[in-house]
Amino acid sequence: MGRIHVLSDNVANKIAAGEVVERPASVVKELLENSLDAGATDVRVEIEGGGRRLIRIADNGCGMMRDDAMLAFERHATSKLSNVDELEAIATLGFRGEALPSIASVSRLVLETRDRHEQAGTRIEIAGGRLMTVDETAFPGGTTITVRDLFYNVPARKKFLRSEQTELAHIASLVTHYSLANPDKSFSLTHGERDLLRVAPVATQRERVFQVFGDTALEELIEVDTQVKILPLPDGERAFTVHGFISRPQVQKSNRNSIYLFVNRRVIRDRLLLHAISAAYHNLMPSACYPFALLFVDCDPGEVDVNVHPSKTEVRFRHASFVHDFVRDTLRETLISKRPAPAGAIPLHSPSQPAVGLPYSEFTQSLDVPPADVPRSVLPPPDFRLQPTAAPAPRFDFSDVPPPQSQPLRLRVPDTHTGFPADLAVDLPPSMAELPELRLLGQIHDSFILAAGREGLWIIDQHVAHERILFEKVLKAQARGAVEQQRLLMPIVLSLTPAQQAEYERIAADLAMAGFETEPFGRGTIAIKAAPAALPTAALERVVYEIIEMAESELRSVSVDDLRRGIAASVACRAAIKINMPLDMAKMEWLLRELAATDYPMACPHGRPVVLRYALRDILRGFHRI
Ligand code: ADP
Ligand code: MG
Repeated sequence: MGRIHVLSDNVANKIAAGEVVERPASVVKELLENSLDAGATDVRVEIEGGGRRLIRIADNGCGMMRDDAMLAFERHATSKLSNVDELEAIATLGFRGEALPSIASVSRLVLETRDRHEQAGTRIEIAGGRLMTVDETAFPGGTTITVRDLFYNVPARKKFLRSEQTELAHIASLVTHYSLANPDKSFSLTHGERDLLRVAPVATQRERVFQVFGDTALEELIEVDTQVKILPLPDGERAFTVHGFISRPQVQKSNRNSIYLFVNRRVIRDRLLLHAISAAYHNLMPSACYPFALLFVDCDPGEVDVNVHPSKTEVRFRHASFVHDFVRDTLRETLISKRPAPAGAIPLHSPSQPAVGLPYSEFTQSLDVPPADVPRSVLPPPDFRLQPTAAPAPRFDFSDVPPPQSQPLRLRVPDTHTGFPADLAVDLPPSMAELPELRLLGQIHDSFILAAGREGLWIIDQHVAHERILFEKVLKAQARGAVEQQRLLMPIVLSLTPAQQAEYERIAADLAMAGFETEPFGRGTIAIKAAPAALPTAALERVVYEIIEMAESELRSVSVDDLRRGIAASVACRAAIKINMPLDMAKMEWLLRELAATDYPMACPHGRPVVLRYALRDILRGFHRI
């Protein structure tokens, strides 16, 4: 007997499941797509236990006749594709006919369905790929699929699942995506008893954005009106369109979670489009930051290959660079034509004025200016309290500073003379031992403190130094459970996306430990009732969003410890005095003393240096004394 044999369907399905069903959210994706392909206008998603225990999707679509329902679980059984030519131009979300058999092979699945033309409905039960029962059932119409105990028979897969809240966050993000792409349909998502999303059909994309993200988000967004670009080809013309919403450049996210991309209404992750978006914001936003974007690219189905990956989240454009440039230019022009008022400092989460004639160069300059947060209860002894100054708004924020330099800064001095030192170095001090003995000299550029040491001239970045001091204080207070709080006169209400809500629940205890008293406040919102005393109220919203984003970021696996440090860093950064702020000698003395008392005065929590030093030796060399 030969050694090669054909795998049984059950084994083949399980292998396919490895590609199609990576996690609970992939099940939700496949089932949602099927519901939309079936013409549903109402899709309800019920989740329990982050999707491991239960995923149920009920739709009011066309339903299936009994024979089709049976066939749907055969591998490569699909109603959506019948020949190879059609593969060239797929208009439905599904087409591979792999999802249902794959899901059924790794769970306990019940399908209930009825085609409107049939009297009775059909109920099919499958466990681990094995058909258990097929019954007639009374069923109103449409299709409901219930998936229980995902991966119960694939322990290896189960091990890779993340926490319930993480899986839920993925599901929430997915349902949010589809609800955004289909404003004319209603969607709901519940986790156990809780409603995470519930949206009724609306007429416009804008209304759906409002339903999902709330009005604060809308204020930060610019609508990208539908733009069409024609690509002439030998066999005719192809039209490409793009529309959606993008954020003003002031809105800076630390990860790509807020970029929602759709090609022909299909949710995708695409490097090309992500790059086009970044390119549009080039120079308007620091490179490690990302905007919010909700973008719909539509084109002839023949122009895009969706059959690149089993989960169908990747696409390949036939004319990639054309699409890239079209999207980049459209976004760029939108950013320019709908630019904000020249006021410059447009606080996050606050409405901005309509555009007035401002040259583009000024527009880009004004983007760097953050709102001037004036720290209040920050510098301890009450007599040292900083007063709001009438100083001009800072010209730049630290978010613009490039990542920490591994090389010391080298000041090059032209070596016109022979024997003149080629370069003098301002460098990290070899040790911090001298820090407590420094003699304060003054401030330069309203930003940097100069001090004399035995072995050279010290330069201290006032913002970064204060950030370090506050960071350690906040961490220690957190550990003691003694963070000083301020109660807000009026609670601040933030709206969260469903995925952010899931993250929020996951980190609520850590937020509390850091001094934020928050609580769920109606669907999709939370209220902040108290916050760490060090934080200026104006920065509160931003910090809380930042923390949730941090938890949400690619580093989902961040340990509790990392998260606490992250929260402390975020609070410290917002509470610390800024640069471009004149300080009197007493305040500078205080800063130096406090810095000397920290455990790790060399670097800020993000790794930037706090202190630089001109070594005496270099000064002597510069003056030709050695
Ligand atoms: P594909 O979506 O790639 O065709 P699936 O395995 O996801 O493959 O589904 C197989 C078939 O089952 C679909 O082609 C469709 O005919 C039918 N089907 C699946 N889900 C539904 C649904 N919710 N309503 C109606 N028909 C469905
Ligand atoms: Mg499908």
